[in-house]
Amino acid sequence: MNTSEKSETTTVGERLALVRQRIARAAEDAGRRFGDVTLVCVSKTFGVEDILPALEAGERIFGENRVQEAKAKWPALKARFPDAELHLIGPLQSNKVREAVELFDVIETVDRPKIAEALAAEIKRSGRHPRLFIEINTGAEPQKAGVLPDAADAFIAHCVGTLGLDIAGLMCIPPENEQRSPHFALLADIAGRNGLGGLSMGMSADFELAIQLGATHVRVGSAIFGARTHGAAANDPHDGARG
Ligand SMILES: *Cc1c(COP(=O)(O)O)cnc(C)c1O
Repeated sequence: MNTSEKSETTTVGERLALVRQRIARAAEDAGRRFGDVTLVCVSKTFGVEDILPALEAGERIFGENRVQEAKAKWPALKARFPDAELHLIGPLQSNKVREAVELFDVIETVDRPKIAEALAAEIKRSGRHPRLFIEINTGAEPQKAGVLPDAADAFIAHCVGTLGLDIAGLMCIPPENEQRSPHFALLADIAGRNGLGGLSMGMSADFELAIQLGATHVRVGSAIFGARTHGAAANDPHDGARG
């Protein structure tokens, strides 16, 4: 039996239970508590029929990478599950800032001054206060969104000091074909020296390692919902195109 057959015969609920177990074990191994690590279920490209079983199994925290897609799926789900918390994990364009602040509880991809400034203005205008993470391009990849590591301290100071934004932490997507640990360690280091507590790092392939290195949020998609087969390039997180 190959793995795709196997994933078709397991359910979202079963895969979710396994992911929770793996998070608990990784936290325990690292001398941390299960409750210190927040699971963000990445539901991009999946429809309501796949998301509902996760909600029914008690999950409330979900990640989407496109504002338009989230807008099509989540208002109805949030009406049924008012305590659901939605994270934006894909690049944000300035013309979508208003919609993003309206819909998302957490925006993990603050990645440049123009977006930080637009968010500050929209937060003031709307009175809504999504929690914010700054995305760091730890691998300094030219095609990828995120603040370069060298520019991180100044950018964080600009967001917090000048714009008055409440920054909860940092987020990264390490380069696809490199060892993860130096990237996770770099993110933890930048957060630590800037007094930020949140670390959003680790995906299906590497969340245990991220937990070992201090992740407070892991963003797990395919290990819960199965392989992504639809959507632009199945919405690859390594494609930093702003959408
Ligand atoms: C798609 C995506 C994930 C989840 O990836 P999986 O490998 O399916 O767990 C996590 N983070 C971001 C930013 C993503 O775009």
